[in-house]
Amino acid sequence: MKVAVVKERRTHERRVAASPDTVKRMAAMGLGIAAESGAGESAGFTDAAFAAAGAVIVPTAEAAVGDADIVLKVQRPLIGGDGGADELHGLKRGTVLIGLLQPLQNPADVQAYAGAGISAFAMELVPRITRAQAMDALSSQANLAGYKAVIDAADEFNRAFPMMMTAAGTIKAARVLVMGAGVAGLQAIATARRLGAIVSATDVRAAAKEQVESLGATFITVDEEAARSAETAGGYAREMGEEYQRRQREKVTEALKRTDVVICTALIPGRAAPLLLTEAMVAEMAPGSVIVDLAVEAGGNVEGSRPGETVTTANGVSIIGHLNMPSRIAADASQLYARNLLSFLALIVDREGRLAIDPNDEIIKATLLTRDGAIVNPALLAIPAMAPAPVPNT
Ligand code: NAD
Repeated sequence: MKVAVVKERRTHERRVAASPDTVKRMAAMGLGIAAESGAGESAGFTDAAFAAAGAVIVPTAEAAVGDADIVLKVQRPLIGGDGGADELHGLKRGTVLIGLLQPLQNPADVQAYAGAGISAFAMELVPRITRAQAMDALSSQANLAGYKAVIDAADEFNRAFPMMMTAAGTIKAARVLVMGAGVAGLQAIATARRLGAIVSATDVRAAAKEQVESLGATFITVDEEAARSAETAGGYAREMGEEYQRRQREKVTEALKRTDVVICTALIPGRAAPLLLTEAMVAEMAPGSVIVDLAVEAGGNVEGSRPGETVTTANGVSIIGHLNMPSRIAADASQLYARNLLSFLALIVDREGRLAIDPNDEIIKATLLTRDGAIVNPALLAIPAMAPAPVPNT
C-alpha cells in the first residue's frame, strides 16, 4: 500500500503531515511512502531526511497522490474554486484522506469527498477517550499553541518576564493572566511560570482550579455554584449566562489592574468564542501591556483583535491575533501531528500492511466522514442539509 505526503498549499501553513521519524515507522509497517519534493521544507524536514527515512521523493503532488491508497494532510485540500490548485483532483476513488478537515465548518468539502469516492477522516473528530489519546491532534497542537502564545507575548512585551535583581536596580516580575485553562491555557501557564512571571488564570469549569493551582498559578473564581455545571459530559465548557459574564468581567477588570500580559484561549465547541475582554476593559490596561487572542479565528475573546494582525489600541496595548499558532512552531507541531497520524494509521492498517477499516470501531465511527460515495458520519448526518434526500413515495 502506498502513502502520499504532500506540501501544504494553504496560506499560513508551514506544517507537514509526516516527519522523518514517522516515515521510518510507516515503512516498518510495510507501507510505501511517496513524498512530494519540498513537502517538509517549511517545517525544517529536507527531502534528503525523508529519503533517508525510506520515502521516495517525487517531483509533484500529482505524482505523489496519483497511485496512493492513503493521503496524509494537515489542512483540508484546496478544492476547485478555492483558487489555485485542486488538491482533490488526481486522487483515485477509494483513496483514504486523513487530515484536519474541519468538516462541520465546510460541509461543501464533505460533499466533494463523497462525490470523488474518497474515504475521508477528520482528525479533529477523534473522541477524547483514553485509547485515542495518542491520536488527539487537537491537544498536541493546542499545547504548542499555548506555549508559542506566551513566547510571542514575551517578544512583543518591552519588559522582562522574570524578576531580576541587578546592581543597576531591580526589575519586577511580569504579571500574566491566562483566560481559559484547557490544553493551551495550561501550557501557557506553565511556560509563563518557567519564564519567571507571576501567573493567575480563570476558567468556567470547576475542575480547572486544581490544575491551575498545581502549576503554581492563582485561580480566579468567578462563581463556584455556576462552575459546577459549566462542564459538558465531554469535558468541554458550556456557554455561560449573562449574569455569569457580568461577574466574570467585574472580577477580571479588577485583576487587569495588576496584569501586564493576557493570554486568551477560551473556546466553546461549535459556537463563537466567548467575548472575555471588552474594549472598555482593554482601555483600562496600562500602556505597553500585551494581549494574545488565541481564539481570534473563532471570533475572538478580545474586542478589537483582528485575525492575522497585531493591533495597538489608543492607550498603547498590543493585541496579537496571529492565525494558525501551531504553524508558527512548525517543526515540533509537525512532529507531534505526524505521530498522531501514525497512531491513527495503526487503527486502519492491519499487520500485513493492508487497509482494514472497522466501521464499528468507536474512533472510526466518529472520524470517518465519507465512504463509497456517501456521507456516513453521524455528526454530519444530523445536519439537515447533509442528510440524504428522502426516497419519494411511489
Ligand atoms: P477548549 O479548547 O474547547 O477551550 C479552552 C478552555 O476555555 C477550556 O478550558 C474552557 O473551559 C475554557 N472556557 C470556555 N469558555 C470560557 C469562558 N467564558 N471563560 C473562561 N474560560 C472559558 O478546551 P480544551 O483545551 O480542548 O480542553 C477541554 C477539556 O478537555 C479540558 O478539561 C481538558 O483537560 C480535556 N481534555 C481531555 C482529554 C482526554 O484525552 N481525556 C484530552 C484533551 C483535553
